[in-house]
Amino acid sequence: MVFSTLTQAAQPSTTALRFTACNVLLQEIPGEVSLAYLISGCPLGCKGCHSADSWSAQQGEVLSAARLLADAEKYRGLLSCVLMLGGEWQPGALSELLQLCRQLELKTALYTGLPYCPSALLPLLDYVKTGPWQAELGGINSPTSNQRLYDLKRQLCLNPLLWPDPAPAYPAKPALAPA
Ligand code: SF4
Repeated sequence: MVFSTLTQAAQPSTTALRFTACNVLLQEIPGEVSLAYLISGCPLGCKGCHSADSWSAQQGEVLSAARLLADAEKYRGLLSCVLMLGGEWQPGALSELLQLCRQLELKTALYTGLPYCPSALLPLLDYVKTGPWQAELGGINSPTSNQRLYDLKRQLCLNPLLWPDPAPAYPAKPALAPA
């Protein structure tokens, strides 16, 4: 992949997303090494949110195409996936970045607090985690969690892989945006 060519071609056409943290994560998406961005501006206000300091959309650095390309180049050969922790509230900007990931031949994942994945984003994603944080039900690694992690290509729910006593993934129809 010619990174310099992509840098020149990737000019943003929408208001940019911002992020407050960028990390390489090994467990959030089973079987993938994920470059993860915590996107600023989540409007959902879950009680007990661990990322409340990122609720303001003005927090953090701009997640430009150039920044994503630089990070992907830095970890070239190590990464298999880019995970966006939020950003669905700006679908245009998020779509541009997901398309860039596709050009880099990286898989794509979204963690959304919505109970469904916005349908316009589904074609650009390999994985999606849905559902708001509800402390009494536990996170994605709890069998009682309201949240669901889907492998969209294989049409599987991956939750059981993350339980304390792992179990096989099961067939599931991913939740789609309401009509
Ligand atoms: S969806 Fe996630 S980031 Fe947004 S308020 Fe809920 S827990 Fe926090």
